[in-house]
Amino acid sequence: MNMKWIPYRGESYLDYPATIEWCQSLAKAYPDWVKLEEIGMSRHGRPILLITIGNMKGDYLSRPAFWTDGGTHASEWTGVMTVLYSVSKWIEGLSHNDKSLCEWFHRHTVFALPCISPDGFQALQQGEPFMRSTLRPPKEEEVRRGFEPCDVDDDNVVRWMRWKHPSGSFVIDEENPSLMRPRRLDDPTEKAYFFCQEGKFLQWDGISWTSASLKYGCDLNRNFPVFWKPYNMIGLDGGDYPLSEFESRLVFDTFVSRAYIAAAVTNHTYTGCILTAPHRPETPLPDSDILMMEALAKEAVVGTGYRVFRFYPDFVYDPKNLITGAWDETITCLFGIPAYSTELWDPYGFCGIHQTNPAREFIVPNFENILQMMRKFSSLPNTMTAWKPFDHPQLGNVEIGGIDYLRTIRNPPVNFLAAECQKGFQICDRIRKTLPDVYIKTKLIKFSENIMKLECIFENYGYLATNLLQHAETLRYPPKSSVKMSVSDNIKIVEGMLEQSVPSLDGWGMLSSIFKRHPTYAMLPQKSNATKITWLLQGNGSITIQWKMGRAGKGIEKINI
Ligand SMILES: [Zn+2]
Repeated sequence: MNMKWIPYRGESYLDYPATIEWCQSLAKAYPDWVKLEEIGMSRHGRPILLITIGNMKGDYLSRPAFWTDGGTHASEWTGVMTVLYSVSKWIEGLSHNDKSLCEWFHRHTVFALPCISPDGFQALQQGEPFMRSTLRPPKEEEVRRGFEPCDVDDDNVVRWMRWKHPSGSFVIDEENPSLMRPRRLDDPTEKAYFFCQEGKFLQWDGISWTSASLKYGCDLNRNFPVFWKPYNMIGLDGGDYPLSEFESRLVFDTFVSRAYIAAAVTNHTYTGCILTAPHRPETPLPDSDILMMEALAKEAVVGTGYRVFRFYPDFVYDPKNLITGAWDETITCLFGIPAYSTELWDPYGFCGIHQTNPAREFIVPNFENILQMMRKFSSLPNTMTAWKPFDHPQLGNVEIGGIDYLRTIRNPPVNFLAAECQKGFQICDRIRKTLPDVYIKTKLIKFSENIMKLECIFENYGYLATNLLQHAETLRYPPKSSVKMSVSDNIKIVEGMLEQSVPSLDGWGMLSSIFKRHPTYAMLPQKSNATKITWLLQGNGSITIQWKMGRAGKGIEKINI
C-alpha cells in the first residue's frame, strides 16, 4: 500500500484541487480495488472524476453496482465530503480484509462521483457569491440590471452587507446585534436597514432597490430529462432543455453506460433527511415500488436521527410548482432503479428546533425559528465576522460582516462535519447492501444410458429483485434476463433451447406481495427468487452458459461432461 493516501475522515472541507489529489493518491495506492476515471470536463475545464471500487481483476462492469454522488449543488460541500468519507470507509474495510466487505466487493461494484459541479463547488470554496450549481453564464442578450453580489471590500470573500434606509425590511436583532431580524410594524423607521449579500448595483438608476437576475442561475438538479420543463423558482432555472449542461450530460451518460447500476444515492444538504419517491401525484411508479423504497429508506436511516420524506406530498416547496428534471427522479422513473436524495445536516435540529415541514418552511419561513437557529450558530466560535463600516462606492456608509452561512446552515461547522459524513455513509452503506445477488448452481444428472441432464439454477439472494423496481418491467431501457448455451462439437442437445429468456427474480425485501414481510399474515410471495433451466445432452465435451440476469449483472459458467 502506498502510504501517501490518507483516508478522509471529515476533519476539514477539501477544495476541488485537494479532492482531485486525494482521488489520485487513492487510485495509486489501491490499484487492485480502485479505478479513477475522468468522465469529462466541466464548463470551465475542471475534470469530473468517477471512482470505481471493485475487484479490478475481474469484470467489475458486469456486476451489480451501487452509485453515489455529491456536489450537484455548489454549496452542498457535505455531500462531496460524504462521498470521500464513504469511499474511505469501504477502502479501509477492504484493506483490513473485512470478510463480508471483501466478499461483497468481489460480487458487486461501487461507482462514486464526488462532485458533479466542480466549478461552482470551487468558486464557493474561494469565497465567490452564492450560486446554485454551475458557472453557466447569463445569455448574451440578457440585460442585467440591479443589485449583484460581489466582493466590494477586497477581502476575497462575499459576506453580508447592511445599510440604514427607511425602506429597509430589517432591523438589528436586539438579542444578538450581530444578526438582523425582520422589521415589524412597531419598529421605528430610523432603525430600518437594507440587508443582503455584499455587492454592487449593475446599471443602477440610484433609486431602485432591486436584485439583478442571477448571474449563475442554472440548477443542475432541474436539468435532467424526467418531467423536464422550463422551470423557474426564485430566479433559478433548469437549463434551456434537458441535459443542456456539460455536467448533467456527463453524469447522465456515465450512468447509463454502466448497465448494472442497481441503487443510487445522490447527496445534498440540508435538512437531515432522506427523500424518496414519488415526486408527484402522476408518478409512473406503482404503490409497491413506492412502499418498498420508503421501507428501505426507513431502514437506511436507523441510528442517524434522519427523517424519511416522500418528495410528494411531504417535501414540496411550492405545491403549484413541483420540481422537475431532478436527478433522483430521472434514475427512478426513467431507468427503474431505486434512487434517493439525502439532505445531509439538520441545522435546525442542531439548534433544538423541530421543523414539521422543512421544504414548505423554506418558502413560508418561520422567522422565530430562523432567528433562534441563527442566534445559536452565532454563539459558536468562528461562525461570525464582526460588522465593519465600509465606504461603498454607490451607497456610501454600509457595514460588511455577518454569519458564515456555508459553514453553519448550509453545511455543519467543521467540528461537526465528521459526524454528518458518518451519517451519510451509514445510509449509503445500508443501501449498497440491497443489491441483487444472483448465485448459479449447476448439476449434472445421469438421465439415461448415454444422456445427461444439466440443471442450472439461478437464485437471487439480494434484497432487491433482479429487475429492481416493478416499474422497470414497463421500460425498454433496463437489461432483461436471458440464458444462452453453447456446446463443443461433440455434444448434442437432445432437449432444451440454446437461448431462452428467463423471468426476473424476486428479492427478499421486495413487496411483490402485500404480505411479503408481514409478521402477522406472513406468506410466501407469488413471484419466485429462483429459476431453473434444464437441458438433456449427449456426448462429451465442454458447455458454456452465458447468463444475463437483468440488473444483477452477467456472467459465464463453464462445465465439462
Ligand atoms: Zn442540493
